[in-house]
Amino acid sequence: MKKVYLDHAATTPADERVLQKMHPYFSGQFGNPMSVHEFGQEAMDAVDRSRKILADFFGCRTEEVIFTSGATESNNLAIRGILKEYYIANQKRPHIITTRFEHHCVLATCQELEKEGLAEVTYLPVSRNGFIKIADVKKSLKLNTILVSVMYVNNEIGTVQPIQEIGKLISAIRAKDFGSAYPLLHTDATQAVNYYDCNVETLGVDLLSMSGHKIHGPKGVGALYVRKNTPLKSIQTGGGQEFGLRAGTHNVPGIVGLSEAIQQIKNQKSKVKNILKLRDYLIKKVLREIPKSHLNGSVEKRSPNNANFRFDNVEGEGIILSLNAAGIAASTGSACSSGSLDPSHVLLAMGLKHEQAHGSLRLTLGRNTTKADVDYTVRIIKKTIARLRKISGNVLADFK
Ligand code: PMP
Repeated sequence: MKKVYLDHAATTPADERVLQKMHPYFSGQFGNPMSVHEFGQEAMDAVDRSRKILADFFGCRTEEVIFTSGATESNNLAIRGILKEYYIANQKRPHIITTRFEHHCVLATCQELEKEGLAEVTYLPVSRNGFIKIADVKKSLKLNTILVSVMYVNNEIGTVQPIQEIGKLISAIRAKDFGSAYPLLHTDATQAVNYYDCNVETLGVDLLSMSGHKIHGPKGVGALYVRKNTPLKSIQTGGGQEFGLRAGTHNVPGIVGLSEAIQQIKNQKSKVKNILKLRDYLIKKVLREIPKSHLNGSVEKRSPNNANFRFDNVEGEGIILSLNAAGIAASTGSACSSGSLDPSHVLLAMGLKHEQAHGSLRLTLGRNTTKADVDYTVRIIKKTIARLRKISGNVLADFK
């Protein structure tokens, strides 16, 4: 059976060159970077070289790059670490601003801190098109706001948030407050790194999270950029790795693989052009050929690989299962929540009704997606929607 993978926002296959670079660090050069002997120093050299590659990519200093186990950990370290340091110094409950459509690892972290009485949190609304507004950030700021955390690219609908503008707003506020360290700006750039400028100076962010497996790197590795002098406390105790900010033996093969994946981003311009062309072709074809189909989120300012549809009177889960039976990998939203039958919190945040938020289909293209893949997928979606509508029509008729 033909296999088509259209779930690149969930994860991507590791690039062949990434695998090659990682390989020696599993056995031949297996040292622990914290060891003083040659095996250890060899491994530390590899970590240092990788850190330099990330620092060049993000336009920061090497000591501002903290390797983690992925974006979930990076986001936890950013939010909890900032809060912890503030608490130690001030013994007061601060205020955090985030958005209603963050990834669960940001949302659940903020919700937990709120529940524990450790922070007051404002969740910014999201427009019908999938954007937050600068005016809402401005309105929500309080004297005790220590952190603004807004994702760069949304993982379900691919919309790109105005991080640079928020950065300008935050730095103006800090300058007015005689160079206060707060509020800090964090962005979850997990879905942005592959496609958008992530230079931290251009963006004006203090913290930025990313993950290896979304960019054709390995799973279980990521990084957090932390601007020098940012008041952040480690949230796990153990060894003094990563400048004392993240204890635990380095995942050396993972770190080497992550840096090679970052290198490959520089060589993918023509591939991104192709992804965008195919994505636009896919959107047009679905909207034209399938009645009562809609695109969720704006077409403009949208990640080049993302298409997210809804179809009136059809459940998303049913579509995914039918596509899977035809060899097509797709999802309803974020992979982390697709085991649940809850409607998408992203689509609800955009103001869609419960039944609409249940009916979504996310297709995310990748470097190897072809026109034949898109044609095949649309053909199967069309058949699936017609069949599911017929079934639900019959069921409804039976109840009349
Ligand atoms: N943030 C976003 C926007 C994501 O898409 C994901 C992955 N679905 C994560 C965070 C979590 O990343 P990881 O799997 O590396 O923990």
